[in-house]
Formats: sequence, C-alpha cells, structure tokens
Amino acid sequence: MAETSELIEFRRAFIWLLCGMLLPSVALVAFGVVAVANERAAVERRLAEEYDARLKTLSLEVMARLDRAADAVAAGGADPVVAQARQLESPPPPELEDAARRVATLPPGGHVFTNTDSNDRRAYALVRALPPAPPSTILAQYDLTVLSREVPNLAAARFPREHATFRLVPPREPIAALAALRRFVAEAGQNATVVARLGLGPPLDSFALAAELPGDDPAAAVAFRNRTLYIGLLILLYIGIGVGFGLTLREMRRAYKLSRLKTDFVANISHELRTPLTSVRLFAETLREGRAQSPEEVRQCVETLSTESERLSRMVEKLLDWSRLESGRATLELEKTEVPVLLDRIGAAYRAQQLPAAYQTELEPLLPPVNVDRDAMAQVVLNLLHNAVKYTGNEKRIRLRARRSGKAVAIEVEDNGPGVRPQDRKRIFERFYRADDLLARKTEGTGLGLAISRKIVEMHGGRIELDSKLGEGSIFRVLLPTV
Ligand code: ADP
Repeated sequence: MAETSELIEFRRAFIWLLCGMLLPSVALVAFGVVAVANERAAVERRLAEEYDARLKTLSLEVMARLDRAADAVAAGGADPVVAQARQLESPPPPELEDAARRVATLPPGGHVFTNTDSNDRRAYALVRALPPAPPSTILAQYDLTVLSREVPNLAAARFPREHATFRLVPPREPIAALAALRRFVAEAGQNATVVARLGLGPPLDSFALAAELPGDDPAAAVAFRNRTLYIGLLILLYIGIGVGFGLTLREMRRAYKLSRLKTDFVANISHELRTPLTSVRLFAETLREGRAQSPEEVRQCVETLSTESERLSRMVEKLLDWSRLESGRATLELEKTEVPVLLDRIGAAYRAQQLPAAYQTELEPLLPPVNVDRDAMAQVVLNLLHNAVKYTGNEKRIRLRARRSGKAVAIEVEDNGPGVRPQDRKRIFERFYRADDLLARKTEGTGLGLAISRKIVEMHGGRIELDSKLGEGSIFRVLLPTV
C-alpha cells in the first residue's frame, strides 16, 4: 500500500512538473510562431521607422548645405553647388515674382528659396547681397547634380558607421533637364532597395531623400536572420527543457527507489531484529521454566543467549553508526599507523567475534604507514571480512592482503563466494541496498555495512573498489593514501 501511494505521489509531482514546464513553453512557442509569421512586416516597419528618423536629420543637413551656399553667394563668393549667380533682373520673371517680393523685405545677407514648376525643375535661392556690394538681389541657381553627389558625403559625415546609402531622388515624371541626375542616381542605386523616402521642401519640392539598403530584399535577409535566431533559441530552449526534464526524472526515480529501499529496510530490519529476539525469548523461557536440566543444556542455552544478543547489538551498532555518519556527527581521530599494527587490531577484533571461519593474511613487506582512525578502519575491514564469511559457502577461503598499489596502500579482502552480479556491483555500496538474490535473502543483514565502509574510507581520502567474478569470488579493495 505504502509503495503504491508513494508511487502516486511521485506521479502527481511529475504531472505538476510537466504542467509547470510544458504549458509555459507551449505558450512561448505559440507566441514565437506568431512572431515568426509577423517577422517580415515587423522588420520592414522597424527599418522604415529607423530610416525615417535618419532621413529627417539628413534633410536638415541638406537644407543647411543650401543655406551655406546662399551665404557664400551673399558675400560675393562661389560655391560648388551653385551653378550660376547673377543679378535678378527687374522686373523679375513671373515665376520668381513672389520670391522677389519676400526677399526684398529681408536684411542684407538674407535669402529665400524657390523653384520653378516648369519641366526643368530649377532650384533657386534669391539672396540679398552683403555690403560692400550695393543693395541688390542675386539669383543663385543650384546645381542639382553636384548637390546629389554631395548627399552621400553629408550622410557619411553624419552617420559614419551606417551601411545604408542615402540619395537625392528626382521627381518621378521624365524631365529632360534632369536626365544626367537620373542616370547618376540610377547607377548608384543598382542592387539596392529603398527602405525609406522623405519628400523635401523648397527649393527641392517634389525631390525626395531615399535610404537604400544593399541587396534585392534587405528586410527578407534581416527577417531570415531573426527567424533563424529565434528557431535556434527555441531548439536550445527545448534541449534545455529536455535535459532538465531528464535530470529531474532521474532524480525522482532515485528518490523513489531510495524510498522503496527504506521501506524494504524497515521490513527487513524488523525481521532481522525479530529472529534473535525470538531466540532470546525462547531460551530465556527455557531457563526460567527449568526445562534445561543438565549443566550442558544450560550452558548451551546461555551461549545461544549470548550470541543472539551480540547479533542484536551488532545490528543496533550498525544503525547507530550509519545515523552518526549520515548526520555528519562522526569524527575521525587520524593517527599515523603502520599497516601491520592495523592488521593486528583487525585480527584481535575478528577473533573476539568468534566467527565460524579463519582467514589468511598476506602482508607485503616495507609498506609505508597510513594516516587512519584505527577503530574506524578496523571496522571497515572487519565489515568486509564479515561479509566474506557470510556470503561464502561451506568451503570458505578468505584472504586479507595488504600491498602497495601505486601511491596508495591497498587492503584487500578476497573470498571464494558467489561473487556479485555486474548490475549490483556499484549499487551494493548504496545505503540499504541488498542484492536481490537468494543468498542475500537467506543471510542476515541491513544493507548498511558497505555503505558505512565506503563513507568511512572516503572520509579518510581513500576509496573502496570491488573486483568480482560470478561463481568464483570477490575482492573488496580499500585504497588508502599513504602518509
Ligand atoms: P548486508 O550484508 O547487511 O546486506 P552490506 O552493505 O554489507 O549489507 O552488503 C550489501 C550487499 O552486498 C549484500 O546484501 C550482498 O548482496 C552483497 N555482498 C556484500 N559482500 C559480499 C560478498 N563478499 N560476496 C557476495 N556478495 C556480497
């Protein structure tokens, strides 16, 4: 029951996770698809807005340039954009009458722009001459071809890093006098696309400034780049979500397995505790009822009582050890120790346990000392010896070996037991894990011994390894750094 409800809990958590991640990401994708669909229009709009602003700035520059040219004429000088300057005849030609009236009201140096509506679209400035010239009005005609050549330069000075080109565009109707200008503009504008256009005021009425980007369809290129970027980011997002999902799933499976192991552990430990407790109760009752009559029977009863209570206390010790290690309360008292001294201590502890098998010791001479907590390390090796005894059949061949292994000292416990299946080799070092085979089911155990051993060895800066061949035996190896 407990397992099923835990599984349901995990499933629920998983579904929450799924909703929590997938729904926003689906919304994001939907938003992205709409954004991609509108991308081109958005790019075109953005380009137009961006270049409209630049064209406005540039038109002010062009007008300022015309002002400068008019000022030069007023001072009696010349300017490249002025094709010719002469005194305005009196009375002025009809198309200049209005401008002549307005300029007459200006002080010396002032000017008025005007243009003709006729086919040749001439642009003029009517300029009041500056002293010492006698008060008069000069008619300056602008050279539009020169001006249009200057426009890109004005733009380059204003927007130095700009890759668009800016041009002065003549009126659309075919005007013979503007053919040269039209040719020039057409040549410059090959292989480019107009992204923004701005009509100009007097004296350049019906002329416009245009901004062009290279290529047949610059918006398409930008839109394509943005789209690719967006799709790339989306793929990255999904890879990220996928990886996160996988990792979370793995963690959840681990947590689920651990919780199952814990449940198994509680069932297991209760069973393990109940067996010796039943024996203790039975034999204590036998003694109390006086059912053991001969001294030999009494001795046997007492002996069983003693071994069973020892078994109990061993189990409780293991549980306490684990909880100390888990909570980080366990501390080590490291001492520089010669390996033979450590092996002696292990031997003494092993003998005290009166286990039903002996082991052979192989000691490589001249081993360097190791820095260990002697009790803790004896417990580790004793644990391995204990397992070797527990998990081998009747013909037990157990070896305790100490030798050099690279820079470390290796302490190995070898047995001729059934070996550990490949899929269990890593996992038996996990807490509460017991190989799910007949042997482990038949023998007492908590699944904590190797986890405790590994933790202690790691606290010493060493590591624990297993070499095992199914049906032949196992070698558990503790590698300890030397002093
Ligand atoms: P316990 O012995 O209390 O079950 P351990 O952590 O000491 O717990 O061992 C975990 C598991 O590793 C055991 O249940 C057993 O399946 C396996 N194991 C440990 N030592 C040996 C060994 N020498 N030979 C075969 N299997 C072993």
